[in-house]
Amino acid sequence: MAQDNLTGILYGINDIRLEQTPIEEPGDNEVLIEMACVGICGSDVHYLVNGKIGDFVVRKPMIIGHESAGVVSKLGKGVTNLKVGDRVAIEPGVPCRVCEFCKTGCYNLCKDIVFCATPPVHGSLRRFYKHAADFCFKLPDHVTLEEGALMEPLSVGVHACKRANISIGSTVLILGAGPIGLVSLLVAKAMGAAKIVITDLVQNRLDIAKKLGADDTLLISRNMSEAETVAKIHQLCGGEPDKTIDACGAQSSIRLAILATRSGGVTVLVGMGPAEVQVPLINALVREVDIRGVFRYANDYADALNLLSSQKIDVKPLITHNYKLEDTVAAFETAKSGQGVIKVMIHCK
Ligand SMILES: [Zn+2]
Ligand SMILES: [Zn+2]
Repeated sequence: MAQDNLTGILYGINDIRLEQTPIEEPGDNEVLIEMACVGICGSDVHYLVNGKIGDFVVRKPMIIGHESAGVVSKLGKGVTNLKVGDRVAIEPGVPCRVCEFCKTGCYNLCKDIVFCATPPVHGSLRRFYKHAADFCFKLPDHVTLEEGALMEPLSVGVHACKRANISIGSTVLILGAGPIGLVSLLVAKAMGAAKIVITDLVQNRLDIAKKLGADDTLLISRNMSEAETVAKIHQLCGGEPDKTIDACGAQSSIRLAILATRSGGVTVLVGMGPAEVQVPLINALVREVDIRGVFRYANDYADALNLLSSQKIDVKPLITHNYKLEDTVAAFETAKSGQGVIKVMIHCK
């Protein structure tokens, strides 16, 4: 019998199955990885529930998973940066390397990027998965494979905080205390933010944010008007925040992000909601509030690893649920339910 390569495959809406797939041979400059941990991302759940995100549609069965870490089990030709047995975090998007975007360092914008579990590209939720060696980051002994998998969302937080130009003394507002809001909180703190206020619709997420170091939290109430909410945010921030990160994506949240930010400040949009939203754009322009998008990350994995290995931040409290690969369907049910869930981690061995 061929070697076990149990694999999590998304067949369509609410149809995820476990099947055996062939173990792939690492090509030149690739490594084969015995997978250890794969986190479930909001995007994975979105594909499971809706079958698509924007123009990316699951048209044929796709292996799921992109927040992952494992152990190098075989080297392809030409690999010099890793050896068998190395524990690595996997940066899931491999760009073309030759286009203008790649050459100028913003390879997240590469049109030909091959990104795990973004249709039609297969993901990493399997026992064995091969990947470009230079997009694998060797973990020091004291950084766990769980933390390695969490480096994916953490890198989004690093990128968001860089885009917001957070630095010593910044007052930061974060909208949304899901995984991306929480990692942004951790990174903003590590970058020297003086005050961080975070909001959400769910109290238990705010409780976690508080534990992770938020200075203050605000439970958003649908009964409060926009103006009242902005006023409350300013009160909690001790003034107007100069940096705002929207990790929610809803129209109401993007509006708040713009309205709450101090004139001359920066509003960074990470959360993805509807394709078109109505926002007070003129308010932003007359107050010179810069609105910046964030798409994944580029050259941020090394910084994320640095934050972990120097123990400046601890991402482990984000993991609220653990499942075995065999229980992938249940793992996704939990992620879908959202009840008390921050991050569901699937263990592959
Ligand atoms: Zn993700
Ligand atoms: Zn490119």
